[in-house]
Amino acid sequence: MPRSAGRLAAIVAALILVCGSARAEERRGVLEGQTPYFVVEARGDFGIGTFGDLDGEMLAVDGAFYQIKSDGHAYPVEPSLKTPFASVTYFDRDFAFSVPGKLDYPAFLAYLDGKLPTKNVPYAVRVEGTFEFVKTRSVPRQSKPYPKLAEVVKTQPVFEFKNVKGTLVGFRFPDYMRGVNVPGYHFHFITADKTAGGHVLELTTDRVDASLDASPGFSMRLPETEAFDTADLSADGAALDKVEK
Ligand SMILES: [Zn+2]
Repeated sequence: MPRSAGRLAAIVAALILVCGSARAEERRGVLEGQTPYFVVEARGDFGIGTFGDLDGEMLAVDGAFYQIKSDGHAYPVEPSLKTPFASVTYFDRDFAFSVPGKLDYPAFLAYLDGKLPTKNVPYAVRVEGTFEFVKTRSVPRQSKPYPKLAEVVKTQPVFEFKNVKGTLVGFRFPDYMRGVNVPGYHFHFITADKTAGGHVLELTTDRVDASLDASPGFSMRLPETEAFDTADLSADGAALDKVEK
């Protein structure tokens, strides 16, 4: 399988902190967001992430960065906005295929898995076309002291799209990368007119095509803050799985 030379870059503050057992005062510093988006945008044209104070869901496609706020609408990302967590790459298609029929989310993910030449490298995944149904969420801006993400998502606004054209942007990380990213698939969605979307909770495909970019390299940039340096990062990954799947 040809693998593009591009490296996948993750700007990781500590998604783990948000979700795991970190104390409230640790979440306080770390969720503010330390890395400005102009730094993220210099490392890729495709990816997903969040914003300081968890103010919405980020999706980048073809070099355009969007902030999907808790009203469900997509806005251009101000380059000065900061993020506590984002993963980006220069998307360079290695292989592509059509997804047959109407698959629900678990069947769709299983179909993608069946097409992978190996499950041991990270993939950037782009899926475009018509979806019979997409259910997304966004996260409302949080204020200090930040609650755990598991508590935040209990009140998350949820949006439903029916017979909608759009794009899924996401990644599949191998299980062994648990702790530095979300293992398995993680998708954000944006409508074809780039006006709405969010973090994908459920979907049913209709006529969609998938393109995958296998990444032979992965780099991680950590925040240079006291909040990060002093945080207890011995967090519990199960909590992350629950809120980001
Ligand atoms: Zn997400």
